[in-house]
Amino acid sequence: MSSTFFGAIADDFTGATDLAAMLARAGVPVTLRIGVPDRTAPATAFEVIALKIRTNPVEDAVAEARAALAWLRAKGAQRLFWKYCSTFDSTARGNIGPVAEALMSDLRLDRTVHCPAFPENGRRVFMGNLFVGDQPLSESPMKDHPLTPMRDSNLMRLLQPQVQRQTGLVAFPTVRAGSQAVRDAVAGLHGHIVLDAVEDTDLAVLAEACHEMPLICGGSAIAQPLPALWQAAGTLADTAQDPLPAPRAGRLVLAGSCSAMTRAQVGAYLRQAVGYRLDPLELAQGNGSDARKWLAAQDPNADKIIYATAEPKTVAAAQEKLGVARAGALVEDALAQLARDAVAQGIGQIVVAGGETSGAVTRALDVDQLRIGREIAPGVPWCFAGDGVAIALKSGNFGDEDFFAEAFAMLDTGGSVAAE
Ligand code: ADP
Repeated sequence: MSSTFFGAIADDFTGATDLAAMLARAGVPVTLRIGVPDRTAPATAFEVIALKIRTNPVEDAVAEARAALAWLRAKGAQRLFWKYCSTFDSTARGNIGPVAEALMSDLRLDRTVHCPAFPENGRRVFMGNLFVGDQPLSESPMKDHPLTPMRDSNLMRLLQPQVQRQTGLVAFPTVRAGSQAVRDAVAGLHGHIVLDAVEDTDLAVLAEACHEMPLICGGSAIAQPLPALWQAAGTLADTAQDPLPAPRAGRLVLAGSCSAMTRAQVGAYLRQAVGYRLDPLELAQGNGSDARKWLAAQDPNADKIIYATAEPKTVAAAQEKLGVARAGALVEDALAQLARDAVAQGIGQIVVAGGETSGAVTRALDVDQLRIGREIAPGVPWCFAGDGVAIALKSGNFGDEDFFAEAFAMLDTGGSVAAE
């Protein structure tokens, strides 16, 4: 049995696929696990464990993350990664800080670094402040997120109420001074060290400086340069992978994200696809079977989408009547059931929009392991389950407007589905 070299714990499912895609881009085979695997499951060199703990109570999130860490360490993982969203999705009582601290305690670490920057997707960190495109995080559409509205942009200020240890910053001028300057700065700080990064070249500097650290926390982009650094250092042996299965036919989009980009994507796809809109207020009255009947009546190969995606005002109105958690759970449960129906109907290609939504759908499909294929958009690969069903899990704001059509077109081309 081969042992694990790199082990990641992701706080949601799209985050896990995003990280897996970045590692696959670097040319290493990646296994994505849905939930903490069985103790006896054979391990591979690069393991990413997808949890769904972003909005769980802190104690639950910490317990699950520690169980994942224990599995990874038992499999021999030498480099660990706590993957959260590049928009730092969390509440003041959120889980990013507490999980980082629990992992640090279990690993007996005095410091870790936090690097959510993902320049290719417009997430940049400057002087500890996170930007989404040209807007500070707290002025971006993330301010209206249904579960984790982000009302501050300063990462140290966001982290501090979540943690016991101190926070610090390796600021942009130090990053531009190069990897040795970053290494020195990190060595002079303790606790949670936020790293500035504006361009991919900054991430390369940070990766060079931090690739020997036992624990890195952040978004997926910092991970891409890591495998080459480990290979160059001789810490990681060469890795090879078996071919991926041929994709099956039949397609469906399930959208539970209300993020600005998903709203645009749903609008764009509805110009070519038939659609069914889920409304949490109607679901609360027990109307879930209408969507199931609608899906059963569709041609499996036709372009179709079922979406709860709505404008912030509509979301707020539903949340006011039902409560945030109940509105979210009603939509997630309905989409999860529809995913089960879709697979039973022979649909073999499913695109899911939304991090929480992806978690609900993947669990409902009883998938425990996915292999990573080609990237549709930065951070969103096609993934393949054991039964050959292809699933793409898209974080709300990822992809461009034509993402859904592009995703299916990629499987249509009959070209290689392996990661490039
Ligand atoms: P993202 O990746 O954009 O954050 P998520 O799936 O993680 O998307 O989060 C969106 C949350 O909003 C989910 O819990 C989903 O069930 C909920 N939701 C979706 N549509 C609605 C709606 N119309 N009203 C209220 N909540 C909704």
